[in-house]
Amino acid sequence: MIPLGKRVPPSSLSTFYDQILAYCIYIQGRDGLMTKYVFVTGGVVSSVGKGILAAGLGLLLEARGLKIAMMKLDPYINVDPGTMNPFEHGEVFVTDDGAETDLDLGHYERFTTCKLSQKSNVTTGGIYNAVIQKERRGEYLGKTVQVIPHITDEIKSRIRKLTTDSEINVDVVIVEIGGTVGDIESLPFLEALRQFRLEVGPPNCCFIHVTLVPYIEAAGELKTKPTQHSVRSLRDIGIQPNVIVCRTGPYNLSESERHKIAMFCDVMDDAIISAKDISPLYAIPLNFKQQKLDDTVLKLLNIEAGESDLAGWAKMVERLKSSTREVRIAAVGKYVGHDDAYKSINEAFVHAGIENDCCVKVEWVDSEQFEKGVEPADVLKGFDGILVGPGFGSRGIEGKIRAVQYARENKIPFLGICLGMQVAVIEIARNCAGLSNANSTEFDPETDAPIISLLSEQKGLKDMGGTMRLGAYRCDLKPGTLAHAAYGADSVDERHRHRYEFNNSFLESLAENGTLVISGTHMKGEHELVEIIEVKGHPWFCASQFHPEFNSTPLKAQPLFRDFVSAALKR
Ligand code: GLN
Repeated sequence: MIPLGKRVPPSSLSTFYDQILAYCIYIQGRDGLMTKYVFVTGGVVSSVGKGILAAGLGLLLEARGLKIAMMKLDPYINVDPGTMNPFEHGEVFVTDDGAETDLDLGHYERFTTCKLSQKSNVTTGGIYNAVIQKERRGEYLGKTVQVIPHITDEIKSRIRKLTTDSEINVDVVIVEIGGTVGDIESLPFLEALRQFRLEVGPPNCCFIHVTLVPYIEAAGELKTKPTQHSVRSLRDIGIQPNVIVCRTGPYNLSESERHKIAMFCDVMDDAIISAKDISPLYAIPLNFKQQKLDDTVLKLLNIEAGESDLAGWAKMVERLKSSTREVRIAAVGKYVGHDDAYKSINEAFVHAGIENDCCVKVEWVDSEQFEKGVEPADVLKGFDGILVGPGFGSRGIEGKIRAVQYARENKIPFLGICLGMQVAVIEIARNCAGLSNANSTEFDPETDAPIISLLSEQKGLKDMGGTMRLGAYRCDLKPGTLAHAAYGADSVDERHRHRYEFNNSFLESLAENGTLVISGTHMKGEHELVEIIEVKGHPWFCASQFHPEFNSTPLKAQPLFRDFVSAALKR
């Protein structure tokens, strides 16, 4: 018998009769039996906003009471983005289970309640890696291994695995496909999705295509031709989009432009969504809601869902828009050309601003100038708080140490993240505990005071990909500290991405001086790993080995960011 109310793919049923029956239900798309799929593709240009569309749709569907899951397919050959330069590709977002993923997954977690995992981000490199390993194990039984069907089968199985291995009945899986339609790289993914649609049946999946509709000044109008061409490329592959989301810059699509795109692209008028630039970011889904994107998608998927409850989200957006106060935070580090390299940190500051009813302005300050004669005071004195964020390598480190010293001595609220904590420990060791040579072995492998050193399990590692200390670990908090007050709990789980740690053999000499407070630790067998440090007698100085930014959402600011901004406001 087919288990009622359980979502089972026909292939997992034992009797032939059950399989036939289940297949019919698949085709009809009977509610409650199986998971439905939304695929999000992008056209015309990259960075067209597929990630925000996917995350925003996730929010709208959750607001209708549906259980959703999200994933991203990335067409590059890296097995994961962990080895990619964040200044080129954007931040590496880390999940609880330690996956190093694309920054769009950060949007998924900030807009929805989904918790993402290793299964949520699949790359071409990851797919080929798995197929080649299977081939080496002889699992293809002498067959010639090819893009179709072996690579496409692997892609489809990854999409299915997201829900079949899960305990929860997922109603809708939203899958974003990285890259732009027409790229050579994304072809196997699109072919896999074409097959997927055929296998699950039309009412069980739909395609949303996000494209650019540029405004041409000389003609004084929005041009729909690039969209028509990109839909045509999609059709060449055999995929007909069901919904088209048009990025129109500062303009709104007129009714006639909407109708023109609908007619040429063979899509219903009400399935053409006008997506003009909207700020703040978190207001974007409300624009989709106004145009009934959720209703359109639910109708396509043949799902009956409850009324929408977006009141909390709308209230948050109002609070964000209405803040009149401002705090200025100096983020001291290597000069960064684009915001995406520290996406989650920037967003965590927005969230902290919402809870403190203020607007947080984060300004990047180049740390190297403090190594070339510029006094930190001259640059930093106008700021309400100082942040030293994550990083790798030795460039600009001495300048960061000087910035920490300035924050500590002048009682300016300070937040250190990962490398920021390591740098803060070095500063305190050098300037408060007389260890003038204190350093990290990352920056000076020969230092005679290795106050920050390589984690024991990192020694002798050759592979760089996926080998850091990654993901969520428990941190026990010491009562009476800033961290304990911020979290209001005795322990927390926070996410990590590092190779170096506080060297415990220096713990005593540092503790003797009395400046440094260890407020959070992780028990790793017998070994106590320092997770959070503070400075005694300072209004707010807190630095963590973990990355608090990955756990911040607009509806619930991360506690350390929240209290840091609150301290900056008080100043
Ligand atoms: N480079 C340091 C380490 O590997 C800090 C890493 C980070 O800031 N994410 O430990």
